[in-house]
Amino acid sequence: MYKFETHLHTNSCSACAVSTAEEMIDAAKANGYSGVVFTNHFYNGCTCVDKTLPWEDFVDVYANDYYRAKKYGEEKGLKVFFGIEEGYAAGKEMLIYGLSPYTFKKCPDFINYSAKEKSDFVRSNGGLVVCAHPFRKRSYIPDPDTEPPASLFDGVECYNYFNSDEDNQKAFEFAKKNNLLETSGGDIHKSADLGKAGIDFNVPINTYEDFLENIKKGNYTLITK
Ligand SMILES: [Zn+2]
Ligand SMILES: [Zn+2]
Repeated sequence: MYKFETHLHTNSCSACAVSTAEEMIDAAKANGYSGVVFTNHFYNGCTCVDKTLPWEDFVDVYANDYYRAKKYGEEKGLKVFFGIEEGYAAGKEMLIYGLSPYTFKKCPDFINYSAKEKSDFVRSNGGLVVCAHPFRKRSYIPDPDTEPPASLFDGVECYNYFNSDEDNQKAFEFAKKNNLLETSGGDIHKSADLGKAGIDFNVPINTYEDFLENIKKGNYTLITK
């Protein structure tokens, strides 16, 4: 009813992404989504934003794509929220929801934080930490089968469109065992892949606060293919 893509990359921020912010929004609209959360690769990830920039400039350039998308989304009637995807260990990533670009701008130490410090920082600022595609098998991930430290996370991306069914199944079991929220994300890098994953809320989502609150309350079903 109120579908949101929760894991999305665009080519101005993520070196591995193909589509522009506008193309993603058009695709979300065409697939009947109410909104999207931009979760481009951040500093410790596959970003294409110049890491030699002074910190505040880095965040500004990174966030610029989101601001452009938000404006375009307003014109098209699609909600656009700000998130990030950040590495927390070798080959391991967390999705961070609910913090503003400003919050990161004021914390240049964030990128050097330990996994626990990153998680604490997000939670103390009212955000949600979701474990991105646990158990994913890729050449760049040294220990795919090791369970993530559950205490770092509020939720788990149990369904990742690009994970195998087996890996997704393990993620569901991991979330259940640790009583964590379950999410679904397309991890899309090109607009043609939009429409196969995400969260379908049973209540209208008008603000980012609505999005976060209703995830915490479990007022949604998962979109899985
Ligand atoms: Zn990527
Ligand atoms: Zn991703």
